Amino acid sequence: MDITFKNVEHRYQARTPFEKLALYDVNLSVKKESYVSIIGHTGSGKSTILQHLNGLLKPTEGSIQIGDHVIEAGKKQKNLKEVRRLVGIVFQFPEHQLFEETVEKDIAFGPMNFGVNETDAYERARKSLQLVGLPESILQKSPFDLSGGQMRRVAIAGVLAMGPEVLVLDEPTAGLDPKGRKEMMDLFYRLKEERNLTIILVTHSMEDAAKYADEMIVMHKGTIAMRGTPREIFSQGEKLTSYGLDLPETVKFQQKLKDKGLAFEEIPLTLDEA
Ligand code: ADP
Repeated sequence: MDITFKNVEHRYQARTPFEKLALYDVNLSVKKESYVSIIGHTGSGKSTILQHLNGLLKPTEGSIQIGDHVIEAGKKQKNLKEVRRLVGIVFQFPEHQLFEETVEKDIAFGPMNFGVNETDAYERARKSLQLVGLPESILQKSPFDLSGGQMRRVAIAGVLAMGPEVLVLDEPTAGLDPKGRKEMMDLFYRLKEERNLTIILVTHSMEDAAKYADEMIVMHKGTIAMRGTPREIFSQGEKLTSYGLDLPETVKFQQKLKDKGLAFEEIPLTLDEA
């Protein structure tokens, strides 16, 4: 399922004295099964774009095509429920949204709400838990007895249980230690590979943005300022700085090596590649 934004504009509180143009001229296509990361300074429009990806916000101009579904400015939206199933959004600190007595019930909640029967929803809970790398033995535990990292995985399992084709992740490594961060990033890559998911990662971490992405999109003041492979983006350090962003420490280090005579292309982009 491809996603295409055509000339998308979003004004908050349009036609009021508080009107705010948050997005303009956004043209974007995300191909099926690709891994795209969106970076940008605070206020550049990342969260506004994210909320357009499953119809939480509607464009005030332009259109968004999500598979066979079109969300268009000024038109009434049909099948929003199906769009929300196809595009699963994992919001920041998703563990704050856990609420059921058991892990199993929490993960099964979404599918049951969507009309899946209890037996199938519990089966989905079991499979989704497996997908996020947690043991079945915690299904009957309270989510509140788990560690922070496990709670986050349970919340992600809840999104996966809906059977999305696209997984949108908003700062998914916020608050994790380096080990947890690496495991979380590896999990998303594995999901993309094994479940043929499209991944859209919204982050302010240059390291995370670069790690597995086929393509990086740099937002600046409400529109797309740069797009390309991480290597293409990082080769334009000055431009990034002008958008209030900084090269990852690893790349700065690599550039120092380059100054000493090593070619940029030969140097790994992240510490893991090294
Ligand atoms: P980011 O996620 O990159 O930090 P946002 O998408 O949250 O950026 O914000 C883009 C712009 O829209 C900012 O100028 C922000 O102040 C403004 N904005 C965000 N939400 C609202 C809102 N509910 N009402 C008015 N303006 C908003």
